[in-house]
Amino acid sequence: MARAGASHLRTVLALLLGASVAAPVPLQAQHGAAARTDPAVVALVSAVSPARLRSDDEHLVGFGTRNLFSEGLNDPKRGVYAARDWIASQFRAIAETSGGRLSVAFDTFVQPVVPNRTPRAVEVSSVYATLRGDDPARGTYVMSSHYDSRNSEGNDATRDAPGADDNGSAVSAVLEAARIMAPKHFAGTIVFACFDGEEQGLFGSAHFAAKLKADGVRVDADLNNDIIGASVGHDGVAAPYDVRVFSEALPAGVDMRAIDVQGGENDSPARELARFAREIGQAYVPSMHAELIYRSDRFLRGGDQQSFAAQGFPAIRYVEAHENFDHQHQTVRVEDGIQYGDLLQYLDFDYLARVTQLNIAALATLALAPAAPVVTMSVKKLGYDTTLSWDAVPTAVRYEVVSRRTDEPFWTDVKDAGAVTTVTIPLSKDDWLFGVRAVDAAGNVSVAAFPTPAR
Ligand SMILES: [Zn+2]
Repeated sequence: MARAGASHLRTVLALLLGASVAAPVPLQAQHGAAARTDPAVVALVSAVSPARLRSDDEHLVGFGTRNLFSEGLNDPKRGVYAARDWIASQFRAIAETSGGRLSVAFDTFVQPVVPNRTPRAVEVSSVYATLRGDDPARGTYVMSSHYDSRNSEGNDATRDAPGADDNGSAVSAVLEAARIMAPKHFAGTIVFACFDGEEQGLFGSAHFAAKLKADGVRVDADLNNDIIGASVGHDGVAAPYDVRVFSEALPAGVDMRAIDVQGGENDSPARELARFAREIGQAYVPSMHAELIYRSDRFLRGGDQQSFAAQGFPAIRYVEAHENFDHQHQTVRVEDGIQYGDLLQYLDFDYLARVTQLNIAALATLALAPAAPVVTMSVKKLGYDTTLSWDAVPTAVRYEVVSRRTDEPFWTDVKDAGAVTTVTIPLSKDDWLFGVRAVDAAGNVSVAAFPTPAR
């Protein structure tokens, strides 16, 4: 009840303030843990257009179906490949604004039959655009979506599957982010991805994430978006200022014993990325409440962030707070007076704009800020304080130590450590959790790095 009340209050406040796409304002310090705003990022966030998001999604819905198995239609106006080619044409137009730094490509392969899942082998073709960063030593940051769609019958290639929300909403967000960010320079490389074959089993993203891994690309974050365009659930509850952010607990293959000793089970790279996304969101899109869900995805559902997680890359998923299950994975029809189907009329493009803003704020900050430091925590002796050490990170002008009690979900305190690479904090390593983040001259802050104990 408390959460619903807070949500309602935010809604009322936002309506009173007349905010459709809220202007970013600096975050008031909460327990001292606060991100600052960089005017360069504020400008990007402010450029998001609900009208362009609507226009892009109208185009996507206009292809009738984007089902994976509609690839053979050979119709420039209908089917998954007509949609793919249109997305690629949008990226190519955006590339014209990038001074030659944005390149557009397909990731195409034949997916063999999956018994009891797919009727035949099928060509899967994702489309993505890579915005080359200025610093080749920096990591790669992915904003992802899937452009395929489905109706009640997962492999139905002929009847309509409009997919306005699942996942035309996120493809539109990815195109809008690419449009706004392509003319600007970032230290890190950014990939804007629209995957195919998500609905049958994350085919496109699994292939693409494995390819990045095989190519030695270091993906420091995947911000996946799937179903981010509607603000009213099928119970009628509206949540226009809430979005969920899912993150996995622990990647496969970790040393559970070591994690148990440290109490690090809630500090995987995905969890630190989720906390970062929440804090940056509060700073740049304060009307929005990003609810962190400490879980890799919803029950009975999955998403492309899991393909990145499977390769050991930190990945989170944005998804609307109250999904309407009458409007997803449903053949368009009226039954007992209820309209089923993933139709444009149910989307809230001001809401989609705000979720797009959250993505752009996080993505731009990741790609502008210094890399996260690699941190060790001395456990050589018993004591009442904590000593942390790290190597200097390029472009960092200072470092921050964040801390929280072991039973707190979010960082509660932040200490400016200055331009040092080792610090002793008067809090016991036995009772507290710590992170270190690097800050540049504009105030852009890295994801918090969780320390490794060192004897
Ligand atoms: Zn989806």
